[in-house]
Amino acid sequence: MIEDLFVNMAILISFISLGSQLVKRYNFEESYDLKTKIIIGLISGSLGILLMMFGLKVNNNTILDFRNIATIMSATFGGAIPVFISGIMIATFRVAHFGLNMASILGVVVTIINSIGCWYIGKRKIVSWKKWAYSTVFVSVVSSVALFKLLRGSSDFIELMLIFWVSYCIVSPITHWYINYCLTANSVYRRLQKESTKDFLTNLNNVRKFDSLLNEASKNAREKDENLSLLMIDIDFFKKVNDLYGHKEGDVVLRELGKILSFNCRTFDEVSRNGGEEFSVLLLDCPNSQALRIAERIRVNVENHPFILSTGVQISITVSIGVASYPETIEDLDKIVEKADTELYVAKRTGRNKVCTNQSCIIVEDNEV
Ligand code: GH3
Ligand code: MG
Ligand code: MG
Repeated sequence: MIEDLFVNMAILISFISLGSQLVKRYNFEESYDLKTKIIIGLISGSLGILLMMFGLKVNNNTILDFRNIATIMSATFGGAIPVFISGIMIATFRVAHFGLNMASILGVVVTIINSIGCWYIGKRKIVSWKKWAYSTVFVSVVSSVALFKLLRGSSDFIELMLIFWVSYCIVSPITHWYINYCLTANSVYRRLQKESTKDFLTNLNNVRKFDSLLNEASKNAREKDENLSLLMIDIDFFKKVNDLYGHKEGDVVLRELGKILSFNCRTFDEVSRNGGEEFSVLLLDCPNSQALRIAERIRVNVENHPFILSTGVQISITVSIGVASYPETIEDLDKIVEKADTELYVAKRTGRNKVCTNQSCIIVEDNEV
């Protein structure tokens, strides 16, 4: 007897474990839309069915299992739609798999009552563990009434009821703790994954992400014989901004510049902060002439942009930009960063606030930008 319920608990915990691994990239709290609700309902319903299939067979018609915990799960973490879906799945399977008899009908009624009760408790404005605890007591009482109706004459009725209550009192809190543990672990995983690719100040790609994007883009450009351009951007005399207004205000400028760069590129281009006050833009499938136009547009827009510091002071900055394009200005894609850096150096050396490519700085007519 106990062994069967132990197996049921093992299925419950393994299912949650595997499920949380499968959805670990997905932030349910961020995109809690209809699709997410349906997924939670389907997962909980499938879990309920699995638990019923491997439950404790009390007699030919009656089974004892932790399917109610799947119902509590869908109501506490999902809401009306998930609990409705899981309820329908569990009730339908109860009749379809075990046949139409008194126990099945009672099973369906219990599932409906439990779903409604758990949904009602789930929508209360109380902390998650309280919802879980109240729901556990609710489903245990409802199921006990059904078990009483089905088993009251049998010799091991008291023993069964005892096993039922004790097992729910142990397994239900363990499940709640484990679900919360998985949700926390998944959110830490997503945060670390984001932090490993994003620059914390500007929310642009960081240098590690830039390297992997460049590798991918280079491979693509070689294989498909496409153009690839890279802009290396450095703020002119940025040290002065820090010295005059302080490092914190310098950060305000860096954040604002990040926005200007993203705004002036195409949606599929990749903007990164490569370090300090150096940024880059990877222009996919972009020939040199178009890269120069984009670079010049960035240069002009930065020059004309009023940067408002947190003190309200308005300042202007300029940027120098080095442009390298495969295959026009550099044939070896492994050297595209080096080449763009060289062009940036030319822009700095020849007076700053310029766009340079192929060792010379360009002048683009306004109407071409
Ligand atoms: P130029 O590039 O035109 O030659 O002059 P510059 O003054 O911009 O050049 P340099 O590279 O010598 O100085 C860059 C400065 O950027 C130095 C450093 O204080 C500042 N910096 C680097 N990282 C950050 C940062 O995260 N926040 C702020 N506020 N400043 C930073
Ligand atoms: Mg610099
Ligand atoms: Mg600089």
